[in-house]
Amino acid sequence: MRAYLSYPLEDTSVVWPGEATVQIRRDTSIEKQGYTSFKTLLPNHHGTHCDGPRHFNPNGPGLTELELEWFCYDHVAAADIPMETGRGVTPEDLRPYEDAVRGAELLLIKTGFCLRRDSDPRAYESHGPYLTPEVCRYLVESFPKLKAVGLDFLSVGTPANHLSRLAHQTLFGCHNGKFILAIEDMDLRPLFQTGKTPDQVLALPLRLVGVDSSQVTVVGQFQD
Ligand SMILES: [Zn+2]
Repeated sequence: MRAYLSYPLEDTSVVWPGEATVQIRRDTSIEKQGYTSFKTLLPNHHGTHCDGPRHFNPNGPGLTELELEWFCYDHVAAADIPMETGRGVTPEDLRPYEDAVRGAELLLIKTGFCLRRDSDPRAYESHGPYLTPEVCRYLVESFPKLKAVGLDFLSVGTPANHLSRLAHQTLFGCHNGKFILAIEDMDLRPLFQTGKTPDQVLALPLRLVGVDSSQVTVVGQFQD
């Protein structure tokens, strides 16, 4: 079975408070011009997207400079870290999963906040979970095979505190040179619905030259 692990993108979807959302505007219509087309203004951190190193690291590669393999994951680990209200993910939360993460290219962090995205969008935007700078340091220091971490919440950081910059910098190579991509605002509901972790995941970005990050369409392959 295959399932999307990314959300559809629309003007009204959740976003970091104060940031712009996508604008999708009709350009032509069959009635007037004989064909349908749209124009889209696409802020690159809205919706399910992959933060690349250059988002916070001036020496990090842009997204189109990364090889395809950075976005393809044949070894996937998932960590269950349930949260009723948002708090920071710590190294202690991940210790029970250390062996699984050691062999993984992608780590999915399942807090369950994706289940509240539709019902409580304001909490999802402003008071969700986040990665502490300590857990970012733990990830870049401990897991050389890890290419990406996927989050079922809005962002590496939260608008509720000031740790976001240090967490992003640490994850994106400013600490020890090693960087790990972050797939933010992922739809991990299929993992909760099936009780399974996907065997393979593809998270393919738009190949926009020069940008730090991009929306990704994410597909998980699950065993039937
Ligand atoms: Zn981002």
